[in-house]
Amino acid sequence: MSEFDFDLFVIGAGSGGVRAARFAAGLGGRVAICESGRLGGTCVNVGCVPKKLFMYGSRYAQEAKDAHGFGWSFPEPDFNWSTLLHNKNREIHRLNGIYQRLLDNSGATLIRGRGKLTDPHTVEVDGTSYTARYILICTGGHPFVPPIPGHELGVHSDQIFYLDELPRKIVIVGGGYIGVEFACIFNGYGVDVSLVHRNGMLLNQGFDDDVRLFLDNEMRKLGIENNLGCTITEISKNDDGSLTATLDDRYTMKTDMVMWAAGRRPNTKNIGLDAAGVALTEWGHIKVDEYNQTNVEHIYACGDVIGKVELTPVATQEGMQIARNLFGDGPKRAVDYQNIPTAVFSNPNLATVGLTEHMARKRYKNVDIYRTNFKGMKHAMTGRDTRTLMKLVVDKDTDRVLGCHMVGPNAGEIIQGFAVALKAGATKDVFDRTIGIHPTAAEEFVTMRTPVPVEAKAASK
Ligand code: FAD
Repeated sequence: MSEFDFDLFVIGAGSGGVRAARFAAGLGGRVAICESGRLGGTCVNVGCVPKKLFMYGSRYAQEAKDAHGFGWSFPEPDFNWSTLLHNKNREIHRLNGIYQRLLDNSGATLIRGRGKLTDPHTVEVDGTSYTARYILICTGGHPFVPPIPGHELGVHSDQIFYLDELPRKIVIVGGGYIGVEFACIFNGYGVDVSLVHRNGMLLNQGFDDDVRLFLDNEMRKLGIENNLGCTITEISKNDDGSLTATLDDRYTMKTDMVMWAAGRRPNTKNIGLDAAGVALTEWGHIKVDEYNQTNVEHIYACGDVIGKVELTPVATQEGMQIARNLFGDGPKRAVDYQNIPTAVFSNPNLATVGLTEHMARKRYKNVDIYRTNFKGMKHAMTGRDTRTLMKLVVDKDTDRVLGCHMVGPNAGEIIQGFAVALKAGATKDVFDRTIGIHPTAAEEFVTMRTPVPVEAKAASK
C-alpha cells in the first residue's frame, strides 16, 4: 500500500495538465487532476479555438467581395453576431465533453474544484485533502489589465468571447499577437478598429522586423488604425454610454469599447506555493529547471505558469515530457525549445520559425537574406491590394537555413511544413533542390535563388 493517495496530482486541466495526466495514467501512474473552471483551459475556452473560429467567420465578407472578380454576385452580406456566438459556444461545449472523455478513458481521476497546496505533498480541493508523491502545477495565466483610471470600463480577452453585441468602434490596447489578431477579426466583421501599441512596431522581437512592418502595412490597407509608440492613460464614460480613451494624457478617442490585450500574468496567487516552498522567478512565474522541476524536488510546473513559451503545443509537450520522465522507461529528457514555429492569425496570416534576421546577425558572422514580396495570383482577379512576404535567413558559412518567415494566406499551414525542414537542419541547397508545387505561394520558398543585396537589406529596415 502506497503512503500517498496518488502518484501524481495535477492542478489545472488545461493544455499542459490534461496532456500530463493522460500520459502519466497511460504509463501506469495513479493520477488525479483538479480543475476549477472548464476542461481544456485557456486554449479551448477563451484562447486558440474560439479565436480561430472568430477568425474564420471574419473572412466571409472579404471573400464575398473578392468573388466579384470571378463573376459571382451576392446580395449585400448580412452578419448575425448571436448566431456566431451560439455556434461557437456549442463547439466549445462539445470540446469540453471530449476532454472529459479523454481523461475518463485514460484512467485519471478528475476532481472538480480549486486546488491549493497545504504542504509539499498535499493538495486541498474544496475542503478535501489528497496526498501525492509528485505534484504538477499547470494553472496557466490570466489577462493583465493595467491599473489606469477607468480600466474597469474595458474588456479583456476572456470577456471578448461572450460579448452581447458587436461594437461599432473598438480601441484595442496592445499590439502583441492577441491584439493584432482581434484587430483583424473585428475589422472583418465591419467594426471600426483602432489599435494602440506602446512600441514602435507591432508584435515583439521574436518576430522578424520585416514581417512586423509588412503586417502593419497590410492591416492599414484594411482600414485598421495602428497607433504605435503610445499608450492609453485613462478611460472615461460619456453621457451617451460611449467611452473616451485618452492617449498619452493628450489625445482622445471616442469609442464603444476598449479591449485590453496588454499581456498576461501567471496564476500563482492563493495556490499554496508558500506552504510548499515553491520559488518564483523575478517575473512572478514558477521557477523550473530544464526538466520542469521546481526548487522542491517532487513538485513540477509547466505551461503558461512557467512563462517560457506561452503556446499550447509547448504546454502539451512539457506536460507529456514530465509524465514520461516520471513514469516512463526511457532516458530522462528535457523539452527542446529550438525552432518552435508559431503563427499569428491576422489578416493576412503571419507565421515564423527559427531566427529573425536580427538574431541571426548577432549570432552568425555571415548571413544571407532571401526575400520575395508579391501579389498572389488570386488577387490579379479580385483587384484586392494585398501582398505576400516570404523571407529566408541563411548562415552563409554552413548554408543552413536559420529562419523562415511569411506574411500571407495560410502562412501557419505553410510554415508548419518548413518547421520540419529547419528542425532537420536543412540547408539552402536542400531548399533549392526541392521541387515546388505549382502554382502555389509556398513554392516561392524553394525558388528564391538570389540573396538580397546588402544595400537593400538596409533599405528594408
Ligand atoms: P491553461 O490552458 O490556461 O490551463 C490552466 C487551467 O488551470 C485552467 O483551466 C484553469 O481554470 C485551471 N486552474 C487555475 N488555477 C487552478 C486551481 N487553483 N485549481 C484548479 N484549477 C486551476 N496558443 C497557441 O498555441 N495558439 C494560439 O492560437 C493561441 N491563441 C491564444 C489566444 C488567446 C486569446 C489566448 C489568451 C491564448 C492563446 N494561446 C494560443 C495560448 C494558449 O492558450 C496557452 O499557451 C495555453 O492554454 C497554456 O496552457 P496551460 O496548460 O499552461 O494553461
